[in-house]
Amino acid sequence: MPDAALSLETLGQWIATIDPRAQRITWCTQALAASLPQWRAGGSLADLASGFRGLGELLAQAGESGRAEAVLTGPDGHPLSAQAATDAQGQLHLRLADLRSDQQAAARHLNDREQLLLLSRSLSVGEMASTLAHELNQPIGALTNLLRGLLIRIDRGNLDPASVRPAVQRGVEHALYAAGIITRVRDYVQHRQPKAETIALRGLVDDAISLLDWEIQRDGISVAVREGPGAQAAVVRGDRVLQQQVLVNLARNAIEAMRSVARPDRQLEILIGVDEDNATLGIADRGPGIDESAAARMFTPFFTTKPGGMGVGLHVCRSIIELQQGRLWFTPRDEGPGCTFWVSLPRATEATELAA
Ligand code: ADP
Repeated sequence: MPDAALSLETLGQWIATIDPRAQRITWCTQALAASLPQWRAGGSLADLASGFRGLGELLAQAGESGRAEAVLTGPDGHPLSAQAATDAQGQLHLRLADLRSDQQAAARHLNDREQLLLLSRSLSVGEMASTLAHELNQPIGALTNLLRGLLIRIDRGNLDPASVRPAVQRGVEHALYAAGIITRVRDYVQHRQPKAETIALRGLVDDAISLLDWEIQRDGISVAVREGPGAQAAVVRGDRVLQQQVLVNLARNAIEAMRSVARPDRQLEILIGVDEDNATLGIADRGPGIDESAAARMFTPFFTTKPGGMGVGLHVCRSIIELQQGRLWFTPRDEGPGCTFWVSLPRATEATELAA
């Protein structure tokens, strides 16, 4: 057996060589013969024609133009991808592959990703729980102070409505803010099945910024949202909560990257843009940037340089974006240190809206 044929056997490929003049199979791999017993060296093409619909046309086309490919229908009705080529001696070489098992593999792959998304959701929920405690501390602390102040005034008999009213009003605002935090986190946690919604990127950005309010204030970050030309058309379809998870993760990474720089330099820029087909988000920070060795491993699960980091954020973000036919990548920031993470997603058009 020639070396190349041995390799094909070892790899379990379904390959056959056909003599078109004799209309016979001259050689085929054992993997092919074992899976599809109709294929064996010496077998006649005429015997195959009825079981493999499309084979005759494929071989004829390969004979004429040197190469051809098609999807054949196998004996039990399932699809096979087929590529055929003619060599200098006029022999035909054919490669078959079972598309059904490819489809099953693709479905399994998707399942793995979905599992990962669920895992990441609960990791983020864990993180959320600890930031929630911090976030709620602030309005609850403010409310406690206001109520204590009111108690003192009651005790002193000093309760004129004109001066008490603004204090009570501020108390209501703090309580509403705390309730808003809880509602947002509850929506985020309860949401399970990916949905297909129409999402304006500007709204997504505003929500993510308010979800990160507490971290932004604590670290003294200044946030600027910049909209490029036509940015109001930056509308995509997908799962709002998953996309928010991506944006929150990227923005949180940017905030954490800037902990090592002086406060005035802690500037987070969020860019919204569109081109003909895609809507784009850029999350730019002025942190230390990403060195070559980190760049090579950034999207690998469990790669982290942070003491309490899990290292799954970027990997999961990329899976989410690819699941929604988009792309996620990063570049060094244009001017000065830092980097920009980019997310590009297909724009929702009237046609996609109607189809939905
Ligand atoms: P984690 O945040 O838990 O470490 P990620 O997958 O989100 O997990 O990030 C992996 C690593 O990529 C981080 O530990 C950090 O080293 C690097 N990284 C991510 N975003 C940035 C950024 N904006 N600037 C610099 N390094 C970053």
